[in-house]
Amino acid sequence: MTQIAFLGLGNMGGPMAANLVAAGHAVTGFDLMPDALAAARTAGVTVADSAEAAVTGAEIVVTMLPAGRHVLSVYEAVLPTVAVGALMIDCSTIDVASARVAHGKAAAQGLASLDAPVSGGVGGAKAATLTFMAGGSPDAFARAEPVLATMGRKAVHCGEAGAGQAAKICNNMILGISMIGVAEAFVLAEKLGLSHQALFDVASTSSGQCWSLTTYCPVPGPVPASPANNDYKPGFAAALMLKDLRLAQEAAAGAGAATPLGAQAEAIYAAFAAAGQGGTDFSGIIRHLREAGRD
Ligand code: NAD
Repeated sequence: MTQIAFLGLGNMGGPMAANLVAAGHAVTGFDLMPDALAAARTAGVTVADSAEAAVTGAEIVVTMLPAGRHVLSVYEAVLPTVAVGALMIDCSTIDVASARVAHGKAAAQGLASLDAPVSGGVGGAKAATLTFMAGGSPDAFARAEPVLATMGRKAVHCGEAGAGQAAKICNNMILGISMIGVAEAFVLAEKLGLSHQALFDVASTSSGQCWSLTTYCPVPGPVPASPANNDYKPGFAAALMLKDLRLAQEAAAGAGAATPLGAQAEAIYAAFAAAGQGGTDFSGIIRHLREAGRD
């Protein structure tokens, strides 16, 4: 049993903390939202009055917060209270630069740290099937592995500080671009009188094959479990895809990488979100492309 503090008990953090409790760990949690605290208490999390109180005595501190500024302000508040030798694991999806600053703040207090964003969404958080992509020292990763294994199915050590966030935004940039590509192909097929099933049967066994097509098909029918069959309820909301594409563009600008399709994908999802569709599953971008074709 490990004494774990869990800060940020929202859609992802709530079920992740519940899985740590179910595995027999002593979990003390904190969130700003009373509803999140109530749900965590029901799941067996000991609820603290503040983030500082939650981390007192913790061997491991897990954060699952919205963005870099939240992680840095929470680190600022709690690091002086965290016991020397404890391990900080940030599972939030944040910008690479903030992740590196967070590692630096932890190191300055004598603490080991890992950036360990996840893939797998709320379903994966509930079912403990998340994939973690981690950045930090090999020693920090080795210490985190047993805890990550109770919240997910796979953990990949991607490299030093910030490498987990880098892997996450690179993967999601591929995903955003490929979803738009698959959706464009279906819209073109519709205009050309080709059935959804015919395009699927060909492309899913040809060189157009990809996850956005075969697992998450953006038209109803060929892949019954995809959100297209459920009126594009997320799944993975377009607003979150836009967040990740923005992080990728920030990182690309900072690193001097040419990512023209990533930039275009960000602009397309930004227009979709501006049209009030941020809460729609990201595969619903096909509706936006159909509309654009009517101009
Ligand atoms: P969420 O908004 O449901 O949860 C975030 C929680 O953090 C909220 O409950 C909020 O009250 C809490 N919080 C904010 N500031 C705080 C503070 N100072 N102290 C304590 N709690 C604080 O968001 P989520 O969907 O759980 O996502 C969390 C992170 O995981 C994000 O970085 C997101 O990009 C990433 N992520 C989400 C998904 C998904 O499908 N939802 C998938 C992969 C990664």
